[in-house]
Amino acid sequence: MSVQREQLEADVLIVGAGPAGLSCALHLANLIKKHNESRAKPELSAENIYVLEKGRDIGAHQLSGAIMNPKGLAELVPDFAKSAPLDTPVTDSAALLFIEGSSFRFPITPPPFQNKGNYVVSLNKIVKWLGGLVEAAGVNVFKEFGGAELVYEGQGVAGVITEDKGLDKNGKPKDNYTPGYELHAKVTVLAEGTRGSLTKKLVADRKLDNINPQSYGIGIKELWDVQPGRIKPGYVAHTLGWPVSTDMYGGGWIYGLSNNRVSIGLVLALEYADPLFDPHAVFQKWKTHPFVKKILDGGKLVRYGAKSLPYGGWYAMPRNTVDGALIIGDSGSFLDSQRLKGIHLAMKSGMLAAETIFEALKTGDTTTKTLGKFQKRVEQSYVRDELWKVRNFHQSFQHGMFRGFVQTAFQQISGGRGLVDPMRADAGYKHYRKLDPAEKRNTNPEERFKGDGKLTFDRLTDVYHSDTRHNEDQPCHLHVLDTNICITKCVEEYGNPCQYFCPAAVYEMAKEKDALKLKINFANCVHCKTCDIADPYQIIDWVVPEGGGGPNYEGM
Ligand SMILES: Cc1cc2nc3c(=O)[nH]c(=O)nc-3n(C[C@H](O)[C@H](O)[C@H](O)COP(=O)(O)OP(=O)(O)OC[C@H]3O[C@@H](n4cnc5c(N)ncnc54)[C@H](O)[C@@H]3O)c2cc1C
Ligand code: SF4
Repeated sequence: MSVQREQLEADVLIVGAGPAGLSCALHLANLIKKHNESRAKPELSAENIYVLEKGRDIGAHQLSGAIMNPKGLAELVPDFAKSAPLDTPVTDSAALLFIEGSSFRFPITPPPFQNKGNYVVSLNKIVKWLGGLVEAAGVNVFKEFGGAELVYEGQGVAGVITEDKGLDKNGKPKDNYTPGYELHAKVTVLAEGTRGSLTKKLVADRKLDNINPQSYGIGIKELWDVQPGRIKPGYVAHTLGWPVSTDMYGGGWIYGLSNNRVSIGLVLALEYADPLFDPHAVFQKWKTHPFVKKILDGGKLVRYGAKSLPYGGWYAMPRNTVDGALIIGDSGSFLDSQRLKGIHLAMKSGMLAAETIFEALKTGDTTTKTLGKFQKRVEQSYVRDELWKVRNFHQSFQHGMFRGFVQTAFQQISGGRGLVDPMRADAGYKHYRKLDPAEKRNTNPEERFKGDGKLTFDRLTDVYHSDTRHNEDQPCHLHVLDTNICITKCVEEYGNPCQYFCPAAVYEMAKEKDALKLKINFANCVHCKTCDIADPYQIIDWVVPEGGGGPNYEGM
């Protein structure tokens, strides 16, 4: 069907209203304001900055631990302490070793786990507040709009097409059909967070990959209201060990917020060998450890969510500029995986992008000649200092925790260099081992993890607590490029890992007349992007659903 699309022109189009995209928008609006006040030419306007966000509200898709290093925010909004919803300063940072049934606190908390000067926050609240400042600065923020396709011009990018609204499940227009807008911009900024769907396309089409492919982890989180006195606001603990096996990279967190609220979660690298491994079930098991159970007993689950995060760091950072476009935040690999910190780096990358774009708008040159200076700015900032020190960190753990600790000890004393520099890494899905034909495949839903309904939960109960919604009469946004592979090779070789790694029970191998068929319950999808990353044949393509769909991470 040929589609007539309304076209709109902007100076700058930012895809994604997370810490990176909003910091870029706000800093640019502030620079423009100063520029216009000085009556310099050309006159610019913050109204010509557009921000797209696929969530139903700003912050709805924000999921983080979250401990925030405030240095990014302090640069962006110097008097942030007066109005930012910071929740509580960190008062105690513990590193705990879990063994089954007991735990041990390291007498000295290793530096990566120290969080003095940082804040425990709800990223959802921080981003909502930041979104308010961005709108007040005159920027146009469009919620419930996903960037669905890139508009290419030569080797560069000229804008984005938003998703069509009002298509039925077969792709046919309904009464409320509205074609997506074709948004043209002098500069397009990809701030889509982890495994951005447009970023993935741009990196592949323009071969922007660095020496390592991006590595990812999955983080599964619950927010609880607990009995008074169970945890102090500002108490922060990171756990290593049980129930995460030593051939995997992962650990848990427990962060005390104000009003007896606690953020708990587990992050696991998406590069494990067992294709039947179930990250959600392991997280539930982790909660039964006496240390965690004691805090949660008698409490109430408030919210659930899951999201992937880019672990690859400096050597997995894609080339972040093409003519007319920049890549920032998690999409651009601006995350320190050793400290599990990306918020301040996302903000700083957004600000450095804003300074680069400001120069481009003033000179009228939006090619890589001017936009390419973004990388130089990154290299001259604390972003480089922080990421360079840990440039080989995550790769060291690709073959388990013990080898990782040995490697990182050498890195610690050599400024990140270690024994091999640069240390190479494989894409995580390449780590799956093939199943023995006789191996039991636990496909019966009745045999999957159920939980007790008080402390531990099955995936559907958890998804209910993510407040995820999608209109079911729309095309499925999880494109499986060859479903034949699912019922042939994948069953045999890997036992359909999508049934296990998805933390929202989206994928199901259903029996129909004695034949297996892949069933996709896409309405459950919490947009974590794990399937796009961890599918062994790389045949799952996550695309944006109708805007407004997905989770609502209120307070997360
Ligand atoms: C489990 C977990 C725990 C973490 N803990 C911490 C922590 O304690 N401290 C810390 O500093 N960092 C932490 N991080 C990392 C931190 O959350 C990220 O580094 C940070 O949020 C990155 O910001 P961003 O703006 O790049 O991306 P995001 O925060 O992911 O924001 C991207 C936004 O873009 C939107 N979007 C994506 N694609 C499109 C599209 N095509 N069209 C329209 N909108 C789109 C998304 O809906 C989202 O709102 C954690 C991450 C995870 C997953
Ligand atoms: S379908 Fe994919 S993106 Fe959605 S929740 Fe499952 S693994 Fe995550």
